[in-house]
Amino acid sequence: MECEQKAVCSFYKTEEVLDQPCIVEKLKSIYCEGNSLLCARRRVAHALGHDLVPVDLHPDHTHLVHELLTAGLHED
Ligand code: SF4
Repeated sequence: MECEQKAVCSFYKTEEVLDQPCIVEKLKSIYCEGNSLLCARRRVAHALGHDLVPVDLHPDHTHLVHELLTAGLHED
């Protein structure tokens, strides 16, 4: 399922991240154009809003989602 967040996602809109364009393109292919349901950025955006998605969170950083959601849900 192609991701509906592409227009607002800073990861998707960034041409190069960490000077590793081939890795970025691979991640976009797997998550943004492939199965966006697995994307860590999308999960945080859906729970907290895309403004609260950390800039440096990558689609495959799923191990950070629980911590980010817990912290975000306890902010005022
Ligand atoms: S990085 Fe995630 S949230 Fe952003 S466009 Fe790709 S799949 Fe969607």
